[in-house]
Amino acid sequence: MRCSYCGSDDIIISSGEYVCRKCGSVLGPVLYVPRIKYIQLGRNKDIASKILLMQLNQKVIEKKYSYSEKILMYIKVLCRELDLPEEVFRSSIQVLKDINKVKIQGKNPKVIAATIVYLISNKFKLNINKEQIARRLGISKLTIRDTATQLRKLCKELNY
Ligand SMILES: [Zn+2]
Repeated sequence: MRCSYCGSDDIIISSGEYVCRKCGSVLGPVLYVPRIKYIQLGRNKDIASKILLMQLNQKVIEKKYSYSEKILMYIKVLCRELDLPEEVFRSSIQVLKDINKVKIQGKNPKVIAATIVYLISNKFKLNINKEQIARRLGISKLTIRDTATQLRKLCKELNY
């Protein structure tokens, strides 16, 4: 099995889903997960989010967006999907501008977007956890934790 995002074959199983250890993408549910779990996950809002994400993924693949533009698009999606206040969006964009792109190059843009939104939400004392953010973008929450440590070092805004 290979990661459809980065091509790595370093795939592990975490919470019943295949997860790429290299870039953090969630590749889909493990087949032996009981059927009831799919029904619980299949709420309308979740399905709508998944379709939206699939369309966005397709857009990112088709058009030659720059790395920063991709991160920006995923930040937009997250802020909208999680109904986050305007300040969180604006601060996230500012952080994205300030970060040295060379230091984060090669990382999955979804992971960077998720981590920035997570750290900013926390800064604004909003009750948003890694799980909620990770699920919206189809990535692993563990990747957000690891990347948070790295981003805090890179950006003064995130040091609190
Ligand atoms: Zn990968």
